[in-house]
Amino acid sequence: MKFCFESKEFIEHQIEPYRLAVVDDLRELTWLQFEQEVNLICSFFTKYQWDKFNKPVIIYGHKKAEMIVAIYAMMKLKIAYIPLDVIYPKQRISYIQKVSGAEVVLNCSHEPLNLEGTLEVKMEANEFRITGEKTIANSEKIISDDPLVYIIFTSGSTGEPKGVQITTKAIQSFTRWMTNDFGFTNKDVFINIAIFSFDLSVYEVMSFGALGATILLNDRATSDLPDKLMSRIEKYKGTVWVSTPSFALAYTRIGFDPKLSSLKYFLFCGETLPHSIAANLHKSFPSSIIFNTYGPTEATVATTKIEITRKILDAYNPLPVGFPKPESRIIIDKEKEDKNEGELIIIGDHVSIGYLNNPALNQQKFFSIDGQRSYRTGDLGYFENGLLFCKGRNDDQIKMHGYRIELNEISNTIRKLNLISDAVTVGLKKNNEVKKIVSFVILKNEMEKKELFAQLLPFLNKTLPYYMIPGDIDIVKNFHYNSSHKIDKNKLIEEYLDKQLNRI
Ligand code: AMP
Repeated sequence: MKFCFESKEFIEHQIEPYRLAVVDDLRELTWLQFEQEVNLICSFFTKYQWDKFNKPVIIYGHKKAEMIVAIYAMMKLKIAYIPLDVIYPKQRISYIQKVSGAEVVLNCSHEPLNLEGTLEVKMEANEFRITGEKTIANSEKIISDDPLVYIIFTSGSTGEPKGVQITTKAIQSFTRWMTNDFGFTNKDVFINIAIFSFDLSVYEVMSFGALGATILLNDRATSDLPDKLMSRIEKYKGTVWVSTPSFALAYTRIGFDPKLSSLKYFLFCGETLPHSIAANLHKSFPSSIIFNTYGPTEATVATTKIEITRKILDAYNPLPVGFPKPESRIIIDKEKEDKNEGELIIIGDHVSIGYLNNPALNQQKFFSIDGQRSYRTGDLGYFENGLLFCKGRNDDQIKMHGYRIELNEISNTIRKLNLISDAVTVGLKKNNEVKKIVSFVILKNEMEKKELFAQLLPFLNKTLPYYMIPGDIDIVKNFHYNSSHKIDKNKLIEEYLDKQLNRI
């Protein structure tokens, strides 16, 4: 059977037509059915001449098989897609639509989005219904030798999300790595937990396709309940677990459950893999393979990997993030030559061509080294025995429960409210992990905290995804400044913690 990607780089493995390709909460699609549905969308686009699109298409919904079908159809048509999950507030989605110029929304959810200036296609299994008034001007398609595959929006420090543009060459470099260097085969069942708006999900979304394997989609109602998720893994004999370490924590506490006996691989990315999690997994699943991988969305999912063996566990704590993948280089930009740590710079075709419509930031972050795309990560790290170790960030980007958050995006959003004169946001840490986000605000006019919350919280809920809403907001009279004239966040945290203690 010949799958829709006739491109040899993408799929080299023989597809078995009756093997499951995509499973969601309602449907099980074999490879044969999957290909038919992909082709149906392609014909639908061709009928309306939308295959001539230059603009990206929004794929909206939550963990539906139709979303995977839509993603593969867009790849086949060489139309860039923007994956958006229902967890995003409408205002954020509207902003993304405007900044990307997307004119078509493939809606795989039950709710209409009704974004101004778009044509919405309601997708349900094999049926498409078009709503919206817009007619689309077919612009002449720009033929590029490296067309865009997707744009994933991440938190942006200016107060708006930023769109990371990933091209075909980047995806091909990534899938070559996944199919050749991890030991996966077409018999593997990739367990998807992350939403498609996060690039962690690209692990499963691209790998199952490149291998002719299976992707098992788990919606939030399932992944929030360990017993439900484990039963699904048992039913479909899931083999590859992909998640942030934070998500896996609950399962390492449970220890080995016979429902998980099909698991062969644990693949981690997105934040520090604590030694204790890897050690517990090693004990509970002695014959499984644990990979720690590292990389930002801007370099297509992951750039380094290492198998966490018993030997590595015994030798290192904290754990290394491993070796750069083939086709990739990481160099360290050191402040002084005699220091061994500094900012990590990633070089290779898998690096993004830059943020969408953001020349100022692109100039700071993306550049060329020896004619290759390079990205300044903001991550600090060092090499020891050829192994890379991460040491935190040189900016205000944090990870909380595995979510990437720019603290300045929260402060800038709060500042938009008329009541606020200034705002600054911090992440409170315990054992080096951010546990709570607190925003400190200076008000234009005095008011009670209760009154402020009543106005600020609905505003934040409309603007920010739930995982970026601060756990507390503290009203202060002014900020302290340190000797380099920057806001002294440590002082604010100290005073905040003092206030909390005095309340007990
Ligand atoms: P994201 O773009 O959401 O994948 O987040 C990328 C950021 O997560 C990186 O720039 C790092 O700061 C952090 N990160 C990713 N993987 C790891 C890892 N294995 N260990 C430590 N930090 C990581």
